[in-house]
Amino acid sequence: MTTPTTHGAAGVLAGEERLLIDGELVGAAGGATFDVINPATEEVAGVAADGTADDFDRAIAAARRAFDANAGNWRDDVEFRAHCVTQLRDGLARAQERLRRILVTEIGTPIAMTYGIQLAFPIEEAGYWPDYARGFQFLRDTGTHSGLGMTSRQKLQYIPVGVVAAITPWNAPLYLNIAESVPSLLAGNAVILKPAQLTPWAGLELGRIAAEETDIPPGIFQVVVSNDNDVAARLTFDPRVDMVTFTGSTAVGRKILAAAAPTVKKTVMELGGKSTHIVLDDADLSTVLPRAAGGVCSMSGQGCTLATRVLLPRARIAEGLAIMKATMEHFPYGDPWDMSNYGGPAISDVQRAKVLGMVADAVASGATLVTGGGRPAHLPTGYYIEPTLLSDVDPRSAIGQDETFGPVVTVTPYDTEDEAIAIANDTIYGLAGEVSSGDDDHALAVALKVHTGTIGANVGSTFSLTSPLGGVRQSGLGRRYGEQGFEEYLEIKAIGLPDR
Ligand code: NAD
Repeated sequence: MTTPTTHGAAGVLAGEERLLIDGELVGAAGGATFDVINPATEEVAGVAADGTADDFDRAIAAARRAFDANAGNWRDDVEFRAHCVTQLRDGLARAQERLRRILVTEIGTPIAMTYGIQLAFPIEEAGYWPDYARGFQFLRDTGTHSGLGMTSRQKLQYIPVGVVAAITPWNAPLYLNIAESVPSLLAGNAVILKPAQLTPWAGLELGRIAAEETDIPPGIFQVVVSNDNDVAARLTFDPRVDMVTFTGSTAVGRKILAAAAPTVKKTVMELGGKSTHIVLDDADLSTVLPRAAGGVCSMSGQGCTLATRVLLPRARIAEGLAIMKATMEHFPYGDPWDMSNYGGPAISDVQRAKVLGMVADAVASGATLVTGGGRPAHLPTGYYIEPTLLSDVDPRSAIGQDETFGPVVTVTPYDTEDEAIAIANDTIYGLAGEVSSGDDDHALAVALKVHTGTIGANVGSTFSLTSPLGGVRQSGLGRRYGEQGFEEYLEIKAIGLPDR
């Protein structure tokens, strides 16, 4: 990660408005657009093409055609795919400063985050997969196998799934657009990317770079957006689409699974979370809790894996709350262009109202508001939310169970480790979690009993291109990253041969 020395040409910038369909950058059929709002100023920053059913239909047809005709030998030539994705990565790197301004404008992300997850990391990811794909064995000899009295030699062929719809959310749009498109392209698929309408430019810019700066054949990579989710939904039920990869809420994930069922599409679902941080009795609260509380406020709490439920030993509640309250009251948030801020606004007025409504309901049903809970008086413009700490939270209450997606931390006391583990496991989600202890072995012993897709013990991180990321229970199906993540975009064909 590079450290910026100046803000460069900081300032609001509108992104690409056009869709990428069948190799052409085009307006929506009929020319409609929708507004893109800057959440830090509440002003219209620009527009994006409002794709119609006809636009989505043309994109699906073009993808089907390109995949079935094996355009540019795409399905069979990994070297060509790697060459094209490397061009895409180089185009992203060249556009880096433009993208930085666009991302801060449309997400309201603190600019500091563009030196990590919002921009630097996705560019790194786009550069990682080409060599991975070059080294991947798409045809493997697996030796001899016996069954039903016969012995045969076998090979496994890893083949692309086909036309893949990639649907992404707004909280880390470039990162998720890359994560859902690049490995899938390198696996040999034709990808139709559908970015979230609150942050369309991160995806449309990717389309522009693909069209102008790469040799990707028409129809192999397309980007379509619509302000109407019912229009986008055709990607999830059209029989010409073979697979849907989705990152977003569990509620929408359920709808997509239902829509994909009649045509038995392959699906990968990266869904919501309600991650728990179990702080063990032997932990040093003065080092653990500032990070725990501050971490949730970064990205304004709009991160799927953030551990928003903190469990503290009952005897240490007062000590812990004092540390967390002080952290949250001094947490640097506000103007996203200021490098010293780590929190910006919520993405929208609707999202802010939802988060503040959840906090008010929690207080009405018995939780104690320790700090925050409203709109900051010093930031009258922009969708800001005060860092908010709630204690006495019943883990079975709505705020203890439902994803908040705002800078809100809840604290619940526990008496025994078994009780803490039971609370952590008692949600419909299972995306991530954390355990803190004065002893790594103790943290690991507890981490082994928490049922999630990933978990960090004593600040150990699972976040890496080589580690599988995903959820259990209603946090999702399948994995992103690592070998497992790449193989999600492939089908496996077993071939039997005579044993001679
Ligand atoms: P969302 O579910 O509302 O929307 C996600 C995407 O789905 C958007 O592009 C939206 O336009 C589209 N969509 C909505 N309805 C659709 C339909 N019927 N058919 C097809 N597409 C449809 O999510 P959001 O509010 O954009 O993002 C926040 C959510 O994303 C949170 O729940 C968060 O936990 C989750 N998330 C999960 C991960 C992960 O890795 N598990 C990562 C980031 C975000």
